[in-house]
Amino acid sequence: MAQRILPGNAAVLYLRMSDEDQTTSIPSQRVELTKYARSKGYTILREYLDEAISGDSTEKRFGFLAMREAAGSGEFAVILCWDQDRFGRFDPLDAGYWIYPFRRGGVRLETVAQGKIDWEDLTGQLIYSVNQLGKAQFLRDLSRNTTRGLLASAREGRAGTGGPHCYGYRSADGKVWIIEDEAKVVRWIFGEYLKAGASLRGIAANLNRRKMPPPRGKVWRVSSVRAILQRRKYTGSFVYGSRNAGKYFAMRDGEVIPRRKSDKTISAEPIIHPNKFEAIVSQEVFDRVQRRLVDRKGNTTRRQARQYLLAGLVKCGDCNGAMGGSTRSRGAVYHCRTYHQTGSTSCHRNAIDEAPLVACIVRKIQERYLSEPALDRLRKALEAVQDRARPRPRDLVRLVARSKNFLGCLAQTLNRASSAARMSDRMPPSSKRRQKSPAVVGSGIRSVPRASRKTSSLRRSSMSSSRAPSHRAL
Ligand SMILES: [Zn+2]
Repeated sequence: MAQRILPGNAAVLYLRMSDEDQTTSIPSQRVELTKYARSKGYTILREYLDEAISGDSTEKRFGFLAMREAAGSGEFAVILCWDQDRFGRFDPLDAGYWIYPFRRGGVRLETVAQGKIDWEDLTGQLIYSVNQLGKAQFLRDLSRNTTRGLLASAREGRAGTGGPHCYGYRSADGKVWIIEDEAKVVRWIFGEYLKAGASLRGIAANLNRRKMPPPRGKVWRVSSVRAILQRRKYTGSFVYGSRNAGKYFAMRDGEVIPRRKSDKTISAEPIIHPNKFEAIVSQEVFDRVQRRLVDRKGNTTRRQARQYLLAGLVKCGDCNGAMGGSTRSRGAVYHCRTYHQTGSTSCHRNAIDEAPLVACIVRKIQERYLSEPALDRLRKALEAVQDRARPRPRDLVRLVARSKNFLGCLAQTLNRASSAARMSDRMPPSSKRRQKSPAVVGSGIRSVPRASRKTSSLRRSSMSSSRAPSHRAL
């Protein structure tokens, strides 16, 4: 029973599947919605799609955002969706913000599960809000329970190595064991870094050359090597909570605390249980590596104090990646970041000095903008603008008259002021002192001493004329 309140029966489909709930696949939603549309006599105009995005991350749901943008166009009157949950989980305050454009565009929502949802109708609004509140609360509870559960097991040192999967270890049912192939790599990295002249990049390059599969991604980077070197778990310690990523609740210093949407990360003291499982590196090696990392960090931050004009703008000719700057004895140099981060397997040691590069750019700018023909073009363009902005003759006459008047006022004021000053110089010192105080009141634009009632009226007019140039009182 399609109630055609709005012109047309044009509909769009909104399909979404989130990471946490994959029960209703996109194709099955599409089939159901197409069936539904046919039964109600709707014509499907197009579909909007969001995959693997949670219902409350609305700002990341680009399909939803595009649909919201299009709602004002008047192309469609109905959004068809599997259920209200697919459409979105908003808390009631956010809901208004996200839904308003649909409402203003006269678009309504229809779901296979809950039927028609009318944002115009009060009952519809209430039902919608209550449902939404339920969903938002559900997500929040889930987050809190998860965080709490994790925290409880972390306190007891259960849950594997603590936190997410750790390269070199596997865990199940509270047991942790070493994966020897990975542990070998970890030990090698620690050992290598302690050798003289070793660098994070050198280690990454070496691993890439030997085609060692990295813990994450395709290649070893400086950052992945550093992460391994800083991971305390390799000494056999259970570590939980050094990174904090709960959506609504987070853990701080062993407590579950609510988290605001605006909070990016919450720094926290991790929960640590030493000697919880077999170590891959000794505490002594780990400590030496940490000291070395700190020492080296000091060096790099000093070097990074300079900003590089062309960093990220210059592209590597081989890999087309961005080039970053560094300082050598001969001056600033840009080098391929891919090589810099991953070593020689991915690209080459491509570098270019800044000085000739800047000279070349300056020359180009001069040719393009400061050459005689370019300046000529600029002059012509300016003249055209001036022509358009030129005042009409009547305005000019008025302007001239007004400025003459203003200059006249100014001259008179100055004359009177200087004669008043002369008069006050001739006055006896006692009366001068008596008169001084009222003249101090007010703004600082008065540098002329005042001594009589006459001058106080003068002060008023001089002030007003200085504020309003067209004043004609004098
Ligand atoms: Zn490159």
